[in-house]
Amino acid sequence: MTITRFAPSPTGTPESVHLGFVIRALWSYAWAKKNNGKFILRIEDTDQVRSRKDTETAIIDILSDFGIKYDELFRQSDRIARYQEVARKLAEIGAAYYDFDSEKRTKEEIKSSYSHAIKKEDNEEVAEEFMKLKEKPQARKFADKFKSENNWQEYLKLCDEKIKNGESFVIRPMIPYSGKVSWEDVILKKKVEFDFKEIQDLVLLKSDGFPTYHLAVVVDDSDMQVTDVMRGFEWLSTTPIHLFLYDSLNLTRPNFWHFPVIMDPRTGKKFSKRDLEGMFGVMPWLKSGYLKEALLNYLMLLGWAPKAIKNEAGVDVYPEIFNLEEFVKQFDVDGIQKANPTFDQKKIDWFQGVYIRKLTIEELKSEIKNYVTKFEPENIDLFTPSVSQNRDIKIFDEKLKLLQERTTLLQDFVEELKLFETNPDYTKLNLKEIKGLENKDKAWFEKYLQIIEKDILDFSLSKEDWVAKVKKVAEENGDKAQDIFMLLRVILWGKQFSPPFPETMWLIGEEKCKERVKQFKMLPL
Ligand code: GLU
Repeated sequence: MTITRFAPSPTGTPESVHLGFVIRALWSYAWAKKNNGKFILRIEDTDQVRSRKDTETAIIDILSDFGIKYDELFRQSDRIARYQEVARKLAEIGAAYYDFDSEKRTKEEIKSSYSHAIKKEDNEEVAEEFMKLKEKPQARKFADKFKSENNWQEYLKLCDEKIKNGESFVIRPMIPYSGKVSWEDVILKKKVEFDFKEIQDLVLLKSDGFPTYHLAVVVDDSDMQVTDVMRGFEWLSTTPIHLFLYDSLNLTRPNFWHFPVIMDPRTGKKFSKRDLEGMFGVMPWLKSGYLKEALLNYLMLLGWAPKAIKNEAGVDVYPEIFNLEEFVKQFDVDGIQKANPTFDQKKIDWFQGVYIRKLTIEELKSEIKNYVTKFEPENIDLFTPSVSQNRDIKIFDEKLKLLQERTTLLQDFVEELKLFETNPDYTKLNLKEIKGLENKDKAWFEKYLQIIEKDILDFSLSKEDWVAKVKKVAEENGDKAQDIFMLLRVILWGKQFSPPFPETMWLIGEEKCKERVKQFKMLPL
């Protein structure tokens, strides 16, 4: 049975849960489900200092929001005894050794094996320290001596005594001095090979008895019978340590999938840490009112492409719209691209548009309501209680229908729904920047404000007749009708872009339109 897992470390802030997490969870989920297998969520919270409960909750909530359901949930902090048992076993079989000295070295090293800080841009200081660690620790040489003399039991006895005397220690793997280690990477679609001499004896069990990632990940993936380890590319260089442990313990190696890195279009490099909490974070996207389905659909295709299908004209086309269920069916290894994909906001906006226009009014209403409840509770009045009367509900639905033609973000829907109710704020309006109005003088505005008030706000006409009337007024005065429409838009909506006219005007209603003209007249023009 195919078993995959998503194994996030809840170490940043809840805002730092980024879209990369969702992709990893999504692909791992899809691979398991496509093969009728099992998908595990494993919270890797052994970093006692940096792990946060609120971030763990955010991760669980985000998965549930996106509909990515796990079959089982584990927390590494519940399994400490098991890691200690395996670390001891590794020492017993001569695949690991005790290191009782070098407190400082151990500390720095643990830091670097935790963060992805082997990379310089993340943490220069730690990265440099890490580079100095090429030399094997003294303790390794000590262990080597016993091993070469075939005296391992004696070594273990000596170590036991020290432990009994309360000396603090860490456990490190006895990475071979020479030879190679390799695996076929599923995503890279090639054999990846490392020389053992490039690999450090990174700590497996810390002096506080907690495991590092390297030990915990192998113990868990093996205990949980994970068949496919799907994870970020940044872990590629530590895979040799993991393979060494699998082989030493005689465990079956899983398949390894190392995901491509997502590139920042602005720099052409991977996203910086700051962006992970900003542009690339999940929360900001949801807060701006992107639909989860649209985001998810975008993420499915960030680095993966479905097989082409022939359209009626026999031309190859690539389907783009997938829901989770369809994605699970279609997802395959062949479609994974080797090149690092670049993040593309325009494409997300395109998906958002497609998904918003597909919604029925009832669905749209419920999306907006959920959005408001979560992010703008102060605006919940939009949905209560005036809409409880039938007539109002109808008008509310008409407003939504009108907005749905052009508006895409839930945040903007809320703002625009409010604009029907509350008069616009003209303080930020700069008439000199509005096309068609930029050259008009005071006299022009005064003339048309009068005409609008007296003649144009005529709700007794049909909408067609009304449009004809505005055109006629413009012609009689030697002006362009579109300038008058622009003026109306600015007065009634407070912006140069609005939902379609005159429908918008009718939905604002006669009384409010009149109020808005009055208010506009008070502005110093
Ligand atoms: N806790 C690791 C991370 O968040 C998991 C890596 C893995 O999937 O093995 O990157």
